[in-house]
Amino acid sequence: MKSLEIKKLMITIIFNLAIFTITLAQKHNIMILATGGTIAGVGQAGSTDTRYTAGKLPIDQLLNAVPDIHKLANVKGEQVAQIGSQAMNDEVWIKLVSRINELLGRKDVDGIVVTHGTDTQEETAYFLTLTVKSNKPVVLVGAMRSATALSADGPKNLYDAVAIAADPKSNGMGVLQAMNEKIYAARDVTKTNTTGLEAFGSSNFGPVGFIFNGKPDYYYSSTRKHTLRSEFSNERFTKLPKVDIVYGYANMTATAIDAFVSSGSKGIVMAGVGNGNLYPEAEEALKRAVAKGVVVVRSSRVFSGRTTIDSEVDDKALGFIASEDLNPQKARVLLQLALLKTTNRDKIQQYFFEY
Ligand code: GLU
Repeated sequence: MKSLEIKKLMITIIFNLAIFTITLAQKHNIMILATGGTIAGVGQAGSTDTRYTAGKLPIDQLLNAVPDIHKLANVKGEQVAQIGSQAMNDEVWIKLVSRINELLGRKDVDGIVVTHGTDTQEETAYFLTLTVKSNKPVVLVGAMRSATALSADGPKNLYDAVAIAADPKSNGMGVLQAMNEKIYAARDVTKTNTTGLEAFGSSNFGPVGFIFNGKPDYYYSSTRKHTLRSEFSNERFTKLPKVDIVYGYANMTATAIDAFVSSGSKGIVMAGVGNGNLYPEAEEALKRAVAKGVVVVRSSRVFSGRTTIDSEVDDKALGFIASEDLNPQKARVLLQLALLKTTNRDKIQQYFFEY
């Protein structure tokens, strides 16, 4: 090859390398922390069957199904757990938040996506929005159809979640949850369907945004405290207190409440009827619980609305706490974190007004 041609070739290589480096530098660095769930589920290939085993495929294989994801961001995956989210527990939550806080503290990580089963996704999302110490985006995502199902929804949901995490508009929104092209605030999202694709909603507030043409667009944001404004994000803990949920119904007995108290529960969330109302025997049992130092929060088994303080139940006199609009499973998360700080009833009621 003549020396002129070699020069030309060298210039072309250097030019292309420079373009490649600039493109790489412009792209955000997104970490995907995988925990299992249907998004990593395996059933019969091409099947319409709703039966499959959750939490089977490793994160790298999930990423291989969405090659275009690498155009959105520099994406890396890490396996934190491999479980169906019905098995989600405090240990995985603590491991997850520690890893997220460590990663988001680094300059070379711009956002996190957490792949997660849908059953308890809302609880993990709320736990994280209260404990993540960063303004950078954290997005939870899952799927309703396994990775091998006919028309699996996981790949598109994963793509959308990375698009959200890589978009600067998502900074400061608190932890988000994204499925089926809708974006919800962690505090407000709840699972609304057992098997359908449109499986999430927010009973009182609706989505904060949508995915349009592969990009997030926001309309609202939650005003309640989260992430950097949450005092729980400064808390260092290796364990969470035992808090249980009791479901209310007509002709209820005190058996479950008494059993939880004697098994060492530090807090009980009552999924009461209507406005968090209590069957008389349940009210008596909860009074006994309070007398033993157990913190009692009244939530409701009703899908939407608030559990208002001092309504038909005199919370102040009975020493109970009203959950505001938090559903029982979310109220449980806030009570677990609140109990790390205090058992004072008024202080915990205040948390329920603020978070
Ligand atoms: N029960 C499993 C889980 O929550 C599968 C449900 C899902 O991911 O949609 O992980």
